[in-house]
Amino acid sequence: MNSPRLTIDPGKIEHNARTLVALCRDHGIEVGGVTKGVCGQPEVARAMLRGGVTALCDSRLENIHRLQAAGIDTYYVLLRVPALSAVDAVVDTVDCSLNSELAVLRALSDAAVSRGVVHEVILMVDLGDLREGIWPDDVIAVVRQVLALQAIRIKGIGTNLSCFGGVVPDAANMNQLADLARAVERQFNLQLQWLSGVNSSGLEMIVAGAMPPAINHARLGESILLGRETIHRRPWAGTHQDAFTLYAEVVELKTKPSVPVGERAEDAFGHHPEFEDRGMIVRALLNIGREDVDVEGMAPLDPRIRILGASSGYLVADVSSVKGAIAVGNEVAFSLNYAALVAAMTSEYVGKHLLPGRGE
Ligand SMILES: *Cc1c(COP(=O)(O)O)cnc(C)c1O
Repeated sequence: MNSPRLTIDPGKIEHNARTLVALCRDHGIEVGGVTKGVCGQPEVARAMLRGGVTALCDSRLENIHRLQAAGIDTYYVLLRVPALSAVDAVVDTVDCSLNSELAVLRALSDAAVSRGVVHEVILMVDLGDLREGIWPDDVIAVVRQVLALQAIRIKGIGTNLSCFGGVVPDAANMNQLADLARAVERQFNLQLQWLSGVNSSGLEMIVAGAMPPAINHARLGESILLGRETIHRRPWAGTHQDAFTLYAEVVELKTKPSVPVGERAEDAFGHHPEFEDRGMIVRALLNIGREDVDVEGMAPLDPRIRILGASSGYLVADVSSVKGAIAVGNEVAFSLNYAALVAAMTSEYVGKHLLPGRGE
C-alpha cells in the first residue's frame, strides 16, 4: 500500500454533513458544502451531497472541473472572487460565483452574453474581516450597476468572516448584512434568494438561536470535514473528527542524542531550531515532510509519540516511550488540522485511500 497515505472515510463525512444540515435546516439555513479543503475530491463531495448539502462550493476551478469530470451534477459555486483573466472559464464551469469588483462583473456578463446564458452571483460585503467584499457604504451603488448588466443575476449577498482578520460573526455584523439585504430589496424591488452569512465559524451562533432569521445560507467546509466549529476549534457534538487519518512509515529508527552535535547555524528552512536536552532518545525518521503537510498541524494518534521537527522529506519523532513496540516499516498514524489536511490533499506524494462504506 502507498506510503505515506491519507485515508478518507466518506461515511463519516456524510454523517457530519447530515448532522450540520439538519441543525441549519432547523434554523432556516440552507447549506453549501465546501470542497476546497480536499481539492474537490469527488467521493468527499458525493458524501456531502448524500448528507444534504444543496450545492458544492470550491475556491478553485480546477477542483470543480475534477468534480464535474467525475459526473457530479449539482449547483456549483465558485467561492473565490474570479480573476478578470478567468471570466470565460468561470461562466463555462459554475452556476454562480462570489464577486466584489464591477470590472469583473461586467466581463462575466459579456462572457455570459456571448454564450447565451445567465451567470448568477453572490455579491460579497466586507463586514470587517478585510478580505474580499464591497464596503457596506458602496453596496447600493454597486447593486445599481450590476442590475444594469445584461447576463448577471444577483442570487444573493454574502459575507465572509473569521478568515483574514479573525472577526467572528455576531449579532451586529449579521444584522448589518440582513439590513443591507433589506435595503437592496426595497430600493430595487427585488428578492434576494440567499443571504449567505457564515462559514463554519457561525455554527455556535446558529445553535444558540442568535442568527437573524433573514440569514438563510451557510457555506460549510471545515466543520463537515473535521467536525469542528472554527472560532475555538472545538469538536462539534454529534460529528466525527477522524474522517481523515495520515499514515507515514518509519524508515530509520535509532538511539541518538536529543541535541545536535557540533556548531550550529540555520536549518534547511532558514530557522534556528531549539533543542531540549533529554539525553539519548529513540528517534524515528518518517517518510513525510514539509513538502507534503503542515507539520505543526499534525498530531500523532498515539500520544506517547512526540514530533521533534521536519525537513522537506522527513519527519523526526521521539519514540522513546514506545521503544520495543515500533520497528522500521511500521506506520505511524496522525490526525490533521485543516491546514495540514489541505497540504496533504494537495501533495501528489501522499496517496489517497478511500475507506469503504456510507454513513447512515
Ligand atoms: C473557505 C471558505 C468557506 C468555508 O469555510 P469553513 O471555515 O471551512 O467552513 C466559506 N466561504 C468562503 C468564501 C470561503 O473561502
